[in-house]
Amino acid sequence: MRVVVIDEPGSVAVREFPDPEPGPGEVVIDVRACGFCGTDLHIFRGEYLGDYPVRPGHEAAGVVTSVGEDVEGLKGGDRVAIEPNIHCGTCDMCTSGRGNFCENWTAIGVTLPGCMAEKVLAPAGQVFAIGDLSFEAGAFMEPLSCVLHGMRKIEPLADEDVLITGAGPIGLLLLQLAKLRGAKNVTVTDLREARLQLARDLGADEAMPVSPSPLEGEGRGEGYLAGDPPHPNPLPPGERESKDVFDVVIDASGNVEAISETVDLARPGGKILWFGVAPRGETFPIEPFRVFRKGLAIHSAYTSLGNSTEAVELLSSGKIRVEPLISHRLPLEEFEHAAELIESDPDVLKVTMVP
Ligand SMILES: [Zn+2]
Ligand SMILES: [Zn+2]
Repeated sequence: MRVVVIDEPGSVAVREFPDPEPGPGEVVIDVRACGFCGTDLHIFRGEYLGDYPVRPGHEAAGVVTSVGEDVEGLKGGDRVAIEPNIHCGTCDMCTSGRGNFCENWTAIGVTLPGCMAEKVLAPAGQVFAIGDLSFEAGAFMEPLSCVLHGMRKIEPLADEDVLITGAGPIGLLLLQLAKLRGAKNVTVTDLREARLQLARDLGADEAMPVSPSPLEGEGRGEGYLAGDPPHPNPLPPGERESKDVFDVVIDASGNVEAISETVDLARPGGKILWFGVAPRGETFPIEPFRVFRKGLAIHSAYTSLGNSTEAVELLSSGKIRVEPLISHRLPLEEFEHAAELIESDPDVLKVTMVP
């Protein structure tokens, strides 16, 4: 079978490997679609602390081709998606409900052979039936699971005014989920008009461009609301540094300037979710008094925790739409091209690798 192998940072090839054989409790899956994720890019560019070579790809769906002993409920021909993060279930983190920080964590496509391959081996417990959902939609089970886990931190959202900064694939998943959870208004910002139009198509109440340097100059935050603010600002005029507008502010850009601005844009009593992954080592100044004065709750979310079944349900029901998020479908041989697209093409959204 053909397999993408990252031998070392910046060096990738497609190689022949023997087909995997399932051991007890394992299944082999014929991969039909695998999302290209920021994690794959970080591994390729050397921003990964583990060992090389790496066989990447962890957002995948396909067809079960063989099952090992002791596998129940799965058989050849089943259409499935893969949850790549494997938790041991017995360590201190796992037994205290923090399995996403498992001390013995392994992951398909990171520490274990990945899904940018014609076939992949997976423990049966990591495999979820997707029925007649398309494979490329099924490949969104993993990123949507992460979004569900993050959203859980800031729920309930009913009747809330929500701002999402960044309309990439993750921002557009967050947008749809916020609307599903009953948010009253969802505003989305991005630098690219095509993404803003897609946000409108997917249910954003407002979608507007942001300046590339939102912290420069006077009147930051001014661009976020076309009309009157939905809430009067309860802070004394001398303390109003921005419009203090949104009940919930979610950063989906990972841009440190955008993340720093979330504190200004949340209204008193508001909730903030830093979802986008910022570059390691980047920092920004923060005024704890502002956070205190506004009583803000600042959350982050790391991977996911038991969200796969709900993710498949949302995808299968069509409540979360992902086909519009796929901008490119590429063969395994185009891994490097895919990486370059994601880094430099302003029109790229999700790149799906098709083995
Ligand atoms: Zn991913
Ligand atoms: Zn564990």
